[in-house]
Amino acid sequence: MQKTYDVIIVGGGITGTSLLYTISRYSNIKSVLLLEKYDDLATLNSNSRNNAQTLHFGDIETNYSPETARRTNEAAQLLLRYAESLPPEVRSQLIRKVQKMVLAVNDFEIGLLEKTYSNIRRLFPALRKAGKVEIERLEPNVVKGRDRSERIMALISQHGYMVDFGKVTKTFADRALQNRKLKADIRFGTRVMRAERQGDGFKVSTADGGEYSGRFVVFATGAYSLYFAKSMGYDKNLSVLSVGGNFYYSKKVLRGKVYRVQIGGIPFAAVHGDPEITNPDVTRFGPTVSLPLSLEKGHGGTFLDYIGTFDFDIPMLSSIKNIILNKDIGRILRKNMAYSLPVVGKREFLRNEAGRIVPSLTDRDIWLAKGIGGVRPQIVDEKKRFLVLGEAKLKEYGLIFNVTPSPGATSCLSGAVADLKEIAKHLDAKFDTEKFERELGPHGHHLRHI
Ligand SMILES: Cc1cc2nc3c(=O)[nH]c(=O)nc-3n(C[C@H](O)[C@H](O)[C@H](O)COP(=O)(O)OP(=O)(O)OC[C@H]3O[C@@H](n4cnc5c(N)ncnc54)[C@H](O)[C@@H]3O)c2cc1C
Repeated sequence: MQKTYDVIIVGGGITGTSLLYTISRYSNIKSVLLLEKYDDLATLNSNSRNNAQTLHFGDIETNYSPETARRTNEAAQLLLRYAESLPPEVRSQLIRKVQKMVLAVNDFEIGLLEKTYSNIRRLFPALRKAGKVEIERLEPNVVKGRDRSERIMALISQHGYMVDFGKVTKTFADRALQNRKLKADIRFGTRVMRAERQGDGFKVSTADGGEYSGRFVVFATGAYSLYFAKSMGYDKNLSVLSVGGNFYYSKKVLRGKVYRVQIGGIPFAAVHGDPEITNPDVTRFGPTVSLPLSLEKGHGGTFLDYIGTFDFDIPMLSSIKNIILNKDIGRILRKNMAYSLPVVGKREFLRNEAGRIVPSLTDRDIWLAKGIGGVRPQIVDEKKRFLVLGEAKLKEYGLIFNVTPSPGATSCLSGAVADLKEIAKHLDAKFDTEKFERELGPHGHHLRHI
């Protein structure tokens, strides 16, 4: 006997649970099932070990356009207000305010930063320019040991946040399960193999032989969402390029977040230095950039599935060629290839990255953070024949597939509300916009719907 639900969510990261929460709090949908293949929530990219723990607003991310910055800011505000609604003892475990800056360390970067500032200053009134003296006051180790002739400049804000997105994931699920009016089930250790159309809904089959029927199915499976979309025959000219990211640790040398100027058009962040929300005694530097042939970090056997997300046709091959031959990406990849090598890797990382942020660090001060880091499913748009920034949401009748590279954790609620609107329309259910806006604030459609 198949159990029947209004909505089946596949994937128990921050995307899946934020949708579960949004459904439970802001709709009259009656039943939801969340299926997660591992034995806990948030074991992959949403886990604090695996991402950079940054609530992105778009003010220190110099690779965002002003429009992307505006939408990212709106999305981040939703998560911030959600966090503010939690009891203080819970909130303090999962989000903390920190100062943040984006640092320019040569004339070219200073020029870029000046331009960025003039484009976004109205959107971010708390952001201000700072020269060497103020940088030294706020982050002494950024200036200590630096060549005196080197010009530096920063954009600084006191409104940065570090977030344990894994813990946020769990609060979403806990709060959804408290709603007595909603029949909400979460099943762990339940790997979804496929979803097939059945009548007006879908039959979802799992590796343990289970079958569930859902009137609407949402894939919140990170890198796997595009794999499922393609296996169901929905090819939207997208593929995923897996971009791995590792981190290095040092003892605590920074007070807040220090980002570097990122060249526009590159969708993954340059190496930055961050405090670690789970360990106040260390600073984390990263993420590095690698191209693993897998969809998940730390889980073998995803190579064939990764290959399954590619269309081996002219647009895809031409996209890959453009990516590999892009001079900025090529430079990043060449540098990063060295970082995973024993001995040399650490020295190179220090010289090119961590030492550019904290010049007084030596190779005895940093160590590779073992088991830390994830795989970003960067989206390749085969029509544009290049990588595109941010997340993608593929919609079909009764189905949504969410592909979630950074800043996917920041924008979870914004994505969830977009999903809920679609689901409510499809099921003829109610989405309580007024309550959502009253509690969390205005929401647009910041995700690209394809
Ligand atoms: C190195 C790095 C740094 C990042 N830094 C930031 C940052 O600072 N700020 C930010 O906002 N974002 C950041 N991100 C992005 C962010 O981590 C992700 O966008 C976000 O965690 C995605 O959440 P998710 O729930 O979609 O995916 P995930 O957390 O990966 O969860 C997907 C879930 O689906 C499950 N699943 C997969 N297949 C199946 C199946 N067949 N059946 C059942 N379950 C399945 C998985 O087990 C997993 O639990 C970073 C990512 C990386 C890799």
